Amino acid sequence: MYPKLIAFDLDYTLWNLWIDTHVTGPLRRSGDIVVDRYNAPIEFYTDVPAILRRLRDQGVVIAACSRTSAPDLARQALTLILVPGKDNEPLQPAIELFDDLQIYPGSKLKHFRAVHAKTGIPYEEMLFFDDEPRNREVERLGVTFHLTPTGVDNEILEAGVRAWSARHST
Ligand SMILES: [Mg+2]
Repeated sequence: MYPKLIAFDLDYTLWNLWIDTHVTGPLRRSGDIVVDRYNAPIEFYTDVPAILRRLRDQGVVIAACSRTSAPDLARQALTLILVPGKDNEPLQPAIELFDDLQIYPGSKLKHFRAVHAKTGIPYEEMLFFDDEPRNREVERLGVTFHLTPTGVDNEILEAGVRAWSARHST
């Protein structure tokens, strides 16, 4: 069982870089990968594309909540990075798998209040993956927070889902 909504931070949660300091626009596709002005690659951690596809196919609402100061670059990256299509259809832009993008600096309490206002989904039905302990403050709203010190992979995802489940299985 999955929560109704799963949200992901971007930097060091879905990809291993800070989009505002490590990356210089414009971004472009070079073969299968996305690179910046200096040909530095921008790509998701290995398991992420299939995870996004799987969650989407299961009907989970997917959100990105990032406090980066480079929201335009983050959106560009999500638009250029490709993920598997449904039922072996062609690859598609990752951004199409996200139902909501909250990308701007500041406390993530604001990001989650916006997600809640937009989707109407209760905070208790939200699971959030993020690499920074300070963002655990969203638990005050009722969101389940799961720390991702080494980024999202299949094991971390399942551990997060189990943690959410344990809190809500009474
Ligand atoms: Mg981060």
